[in-house]
Amino acid sequence: MSSKFDVVVIGAGPAGYVAAIRVAQHGLSVACIDAWVTDQGEPSFGGTCLNAGCIPSKALLESSELYHRAKVDFGKHGIGIRELSLDLAAMQARKEGIVRQLCTGIGALFKANGITGLSGRGRLLPENKVEYSPHDGESELIEAEHVILATGSEPVELPAVPFNGTTVVDSAGALEFDAVPERLGVIGAGVIGLELGSVWQRLGADVTILEAMDQFLFMADEQIAREAQRQFKRQGLDIRLGARVRALETTGSGVRLAYEDTHGGHDISVDRVVVAVGRKPCTEGLLDPLCGVAVDERGFIDVDNVCRTTAGNVWAIGDVVRGPMLAHKGSEEGVMVADLIAGEVASMDYDIIPSVIYTSPEIAWVGKTEAELKAGGTAFKTGTFNFAASGRAQAMDQGAGLVKVISCVETDQILGVHIVGPLAGELIGEAVVAMEFQASTEDLQRTIHGHPTLTEAVHEAALSVDKRAIHAINH
Ligand code: FAD
Ligand code: NAD
Repeated sequence: MSSKFDVVVIGAGPAGYVAAIRVAQHGLSVACIDAWVTDQGEPSFGGTCLNAGCIPSKALLESSELYHRAKVDFGKHGIGIRELSLDLAAMQARKEGIVRQLCTGIGALFKANGITGLSGRGRLLPENKVEYSPHDGESELIEAEHVILATGSEPVELPAVPFNGTTVVDSAGALEFDAVPERLGVIGAGVIGLELGSVWQRLGADVTILEAMDQFLFMADEQIAREAQRQFKRQGLDIRLGARVRALETTGSGVRLAYEDTHGGHDISVDRVVVAVGRKPCTEGLLDPLCGVAVDERGFIDVDNVCRTTAGNVWAIGDVVRGPMLAHKGSEEGVMVADLIAGEVASMDYDIIPSVIYTSPEIAWVGKTEAELKAGGTAFKTGTFNFAASGRAQAMDQGAGLVKVISCVETDQILGVHIVGPLAGELIGEAVVAMEFQASTEDLQRTIHGHPTLTEAVHEAALSVDKRAIHAINH
């Protein structure tokens, strides 16, 4: 192996592997070092996203949704099932198959692009040297013109509720249950709590989610969060807000969680607990004290608006730096950094990063919320459209939820789009493109949408901003 490369990337998650591929597309030599190994001890590229995050969670969300719909909804379509059964082992095997296929695919992409994929740990030394320690072998030094740090994040542990891998698990553990728990406790009603809580609830668990904040989904638009909360309640998800967990006690059949809210102390007894209270950047053992890379007070690697660290020719991207912990945010940073290294002009607009929560109904948004615009003193107008009036949504038996478009009063520019409803994660793409092109509300109003599609709800919400919705009464 050559011990000198134009670029060395540490971490092969969606930030690091995408950066490596883009660097290679520029004709530069690149090595990508990744530490991930499977439970069977096999190296596996793809990071959290492919191995224990986005992909396996979406596989289980899809399977559990199908099971739930077969159980609850099929009757309405006139489809009768004599005996519905759940083979969790097969469901898990399907998920594992998808994960293995996609992770192997990253190795194939590395090969096709001439990228040297290295399995083991990387450590940044002074003067852009990287110490590479393979899982089974001697460490060696690699020199690089540029280094990209993309080591990702790991779950936050609560001191009062330490992980034990069996009754108290993190998100990775919650993707691997081999039996549906009768009673599942989830700490944190954030993205992971809601997605994985939904998976196990659909498969039959009694799920209680304890959330420390008084406000549900505080990062989402309030109207959208309210509607989502209403839907989750109807589904039987027991979400308790303002609940601060104080202690955990192991009982014969599971665990008891003691928590406090404004009404006093309470406890719940459950078989298993998933702790999903956020993630923290991974920098342990990564940075030699003399390498010149600064870390902020929360442990994130300090970067400027184009992901330059405080050390020359060292860049950092993805979950290990500020900004939302989202796969597509890290990937886009990877592309930007690779282009900058190759001498191109590149930047990214952090205001137009879509968020998607893959519950049922899905929740998705891009741009500003009403609360953010009020706080910033921007005059805005809003339009909404309920999926109840969408022919396609009704045909799909998914008439709950709405689309909301927020626009600037002065310029008519679209400032935010917020959706709770069927395939919201797909629908938000149209809003992202519109906002990327700084579209006005009128642009969206005059865009022809196919019929009958869910996208008509986005169109109608844009029309509703100016009280011109066709299939709703304009107030
Ligand atoms: P990671 O994916 O964490 O990859 C970092 C890699 O670096 C890892 O392989 C790690 O082993 C390796 N590494 C760490 N230190 C070293 C070292 N010193 N040397 C070598 N290698 C090292 N985001 C979405 O956008 N959509 C979703 O639907 C979504 N679902 C999620 C579901 C779950 C359950 C979880 C946990 C997360 C989810 N996320 C989702 C978040 C998403 O997974 C992360 O934002 C994304 O993986 C971050 O990418 P990254 O490349 O920065 O880091
Ligand atoms: P999160 O930040 O989304 O939610 C954590 C929740 O836990 C918050 O609501 C917070 O108020 C609550 N909390 C914090 N401390 C608590 C405590 N002591 N007791 C009770 N509640 C507490 O974090 P997450 O759900 O762990 O997800 C981690 C990251 O992974 C997020 O940044 C998210 O963007 C990413 N992720 C994204 C997706 C997606 O894009 N669909 C899916 C899963 C994860």
